[in-house]
Amino acid sequence: MEVSPIYTKSITCPLCNHKFSSSKTRSRFLKIEGHQSDLRPIYQNAELDPNLYHVHVCFSCGYSFTEDFSPYFPPNTKQRIQDALNSNWKPQDFSGVRQHGQAIASFKLAIFCALLKNEKQVIIAGLYLRLSWLYSTIQSNDQQKRFQRLALHSYKESYSIGDYTGTKMSVERLLYLAADLSLQLSEEQEATTLFSKLIEQQNAATEPRIVKLAKERWQTYRAEKNSQSIQPFTS
Ligand SMILES: [Zn+2]
Repeated sequence: MEVSPIYTKSITCPLCNHKFSSSKTRSRFLKIEGHQSDLRPIYQNAELDPNLYHVHVCFSCGYSFTEDFSPYFPPNTKQRIQDALNSNWKPQDFSGVRQHGQAIASFKLAIFCALLKNEKQVIIAGLYLRLSWLYSTIQSNDQQKRFQRLALHSYKESYSIGDYTGTKMSVERLLYLAADLSLQLSEEQEATTLFSKLIEQQNAATEPRIVKLAKERWQTYRAEKNSQSIQPFTS
């Protein structure tokens, strides 16, 4: 029997305890061809992009979350989320093959829930960033920029309050992402500050690869900028 690249997983909703199905891509079908500057993996087969299946959406109550969410609900947040979903949620099935439109809807739901749950800024930033990737795939430039801006804001917030500590996110990776997003949004001054902070960390870096990447990214950007500035008559 042929194995499908998409499989179904049974998930228990942390909010209402209902069991529902959620789809995932089998990792052995994924071939990474490279990475974009914001560390987004580029897959040989874009239709199998695991980002499409990153969010679990409870069929019954609509609570939407990822494996990065904390299992802990701060006081009163369960009630707050239930109240917000009760008045808006109509049961919808997000299992099976997901198209971009449905994946975008799943991320918006997850962001809505994460904000009500007071999730860490680093987690919220990751949702904004991944949503910007989906918009980039469907070439919706304005929406891509809108969510890149929100991701940048949340990464900077996370850096200043330090809520990334104890998560999978290292300080180097956090600063790199914020710096790269600043460059993509043409905020050069901001990018300079963030890259400098990152380079300052290099002796204590737990991810020296990211520091190296940051230096390369900055050099490539400067080189591109210089080559543009000596060709003032090209459009
Ligand atoms: Zn639920």
